[in-house]
Amino acid sequence: MDRRVFLHLAVATGALPAAALAQTPKPSDLLGVSGEAYFTTWLNDFYARALAAGVSRAMLDQQLSGLSPDPRVAALDAGQPEFAKPVSDYINGSISPGRIAIGRAKRGSIAAFASIEQTYGVPRDILIGVWAMESGFGAIQGDMDVIRSLATLAALGRRRPWAESELLTSFRILASGEVSRARLRGSWAGAMGQTQILPSTYLSSAVDGDGDGKKDIWGSAPDALATAANLLKLGGWRRGEGWAREVIAPHGFDFGLSEGPKEIPAWWMAKGVRRADNGAWSSADSAAPCVFMAPSGAGGPAFLLLPNHFAIRKYNNSIAYALAVGLLADRFGGGGPLVTPWPHETPLSLTERMDAQSALAKLGFNPGEPDGLVGVGTRQALRAWQAAHGLAADGYLSPDMVRRLRAAAPRGA
Ligand code: CA
Repeated sequence: MDRRVFLHLAVATGALPAAALAQTPKPSDLLGVSGEAYFTTWLNDFYARALAAGVSRAMLDQQLSGLSPDPRVAALDAGQPEFAKPVSDYINGSISPGRIAIGRAKRGSIAAFASIEQTYGVPRDILIGVWAMESGFGAIQGDMDVIRSLATLAALGRRRPWAESELLTSFRILASGEVSRARLRGSWAGAMGQTQILPSTYLSSAVDGDGDGKKDIWGSAPDALATAANLLKLGGWRRGEGWAREVIAPHGFDFGLSEGPKEIPAWWMAKGVRRADNGAWSSADSAAPCVFMAPSGAGGPAFLLLPNHFAIRKYNNSIAYALAVGLLADRFGGGGPLVTPWPHETPLSLTERMDAQSALAKLGFNPGEPDGLVGVGTRQALRAWQAAHGLAADGYLSPDMVRRLRAAAPRGA
């Protein structure tokens, strides 16, 4: 699923690829006369492309006439925070006492939960976690005209093929008659309804959760939650298994195993890894292949991630997002806070992140394209470099690691 990849990037790292941003017109270009000309040029071209793709002239005239770019979308699309939000800040901001209390109250509030759990095998606590993260339990869905937002993004150009594809899908939804243009509202990036899905995801995977024959992800919580359950099932959710367990790694643990082998809990226990709450593994979880991960480095909490963690990542490919959904679900179900607290993390600037990536490349540890996004490639390269220098190979890019990498890298290109 290509759902909100850019939003996830912004959320997970606070950054968008610098190379891509360099090609983006400034929002101010869209605000003045020249910007409107730019939009009109795109609109005329798109009209022809949409006709060729089979959209009727009547639909295009109805939906596109008088359309203007939305300056709020342009500004949000160009906005890039200089500093990446650390995972601990993201998690701590996501798991508030108030949100936990609301989530617990929602567990018994929706009659359809039992049939949704039965049909899709996804527990209500996970669905309520998604609901909380996506729209504050339906309260914050976004009230922007999805057609106008997508048209603005297409005209801006950076994600034109994606935005035009979502526009064409939006026309198919409108042609079905199930949803009106007035109802087709969402975030600035086109994510719609209580679980913030794109038009393409709506068309392919939305379901009716309350049995009225309509798929109303805006007005019906059961429809939105059943749709989320369907998406998680399509993403590989495994009925009866958990999503992750907090663990404690022993002294001297090889953090180079992070994001590496997929092994059952007994394999990890043989390496000295144990559940942080000292609980026993369920029979289902005991047979599940788990990935070790310490998202904020060796000094922070560690997890064995079960396959269901990666099903959440299919929904929204952000480690921090998937952790927040799972940790919220645990709290809704009566669990307590993590045994190992999140450490204090210092946000890194785009320059620091890109310098670290360039240094790794110069030192012969290929992190992939230096783009300021600290993804799995950067972390694996850093782990290899750390291991080669006798450091804990946790792949965690701290200010200290940036300093060491800058000092170690040869000067010049
Ligand atoms: Ca319905």
